[in-house]
Amino acid sequence: MLNLSNVQHFSVGDGDGIRTTVFLKGCNLRCPWCHNPENLCKEPTVLHYRSTGKTELFGRRVSAEELLTELLEDRDFYEESGGGVTFSGGEAMLQANALVPVVKALKDGNVSTLIDTAGCVPYALFELLNPYVSGYLFDFKTADAEKYKSIGGDLDLVTANICRLLSDDVAVLIRIPLIPDFNCDSGSVQAICLHLQRLGVKRVELIPFHRLGSAKYEAMGLEYAYKNKEPLKADEIEKTEAVYRNYFAVKTER
Ligand code: SF4
Repeated sequence: MLNLSNVQHFSVGDGDGIRTTVFLKGCNLRCPWCHNPENLCKEPTVLHYRSTGKTELFGRRVSAEELLTELLEDRDFYEESGGGVTFSGGEAMLQANALVPVVKALKDGNVSTLIDTAGCVPYALFELLNPYVSGYLFDFKTADAEKYKSIGGDLDLVTANICRLLSDDVAVLIRIPLIPDFNCDSGSVQAICLHLQRLGVKRVELIPFHRLGSAKYEAMGLEYAYKNKEPLKADEIEKTEAVYRNYFAVKTER
């Protein structure tokens, strides 16, 4: 069974074309800026919005067959737009075993699949999925091992997994969140560029931090550590992008 929080139809941005994004519950990292707090734990999560009185429940267990039926409803849109299905989270890779029959059946049906991951899992889990998926959207957060540790991650593991994926000729798009006071100062940007260049990365996508998750924290009765953090201004994003362009082909989410 798969443990999902949400299936978002007609989504754009997490890969090419029109996509269905499946958000899986559970994450092994704890990034303080995370904008999907409802996906962090494996247990069902209730969000209660005081302003509207609306209550939402995130968390349901579905079989591979049930999920496939839902995903294939949008097949015509995938075909017409060059889209497909993206598995996100949380950390989608934590459910790699349960995902195998889903991505295999989608591949058999000529539907492209992408996995959005922070990559802090054993490579054996990637090996389960590599034969069937079209590629990975691989978040890289910092080249500083201590900072990775501070969010529950492991720079060595992330680095090794990127290397293995590249050497196994699997499509990997490195995505870097631009997080104020974490990885956007010039030293951090330079260190990330050099680190990824050494691994042979050619293309990155930059994802500027936003505070759209604030309301969810409030609805969960949690304090959002980034509630008052200012997102980067347009000129700061451009400056950062310009540095990345010295090393890579760059696309920035706007
Ligand atoms: S890895 Fe992604 S889902 Fe997990 S805590 Fe960090 S931002 Fe949130």
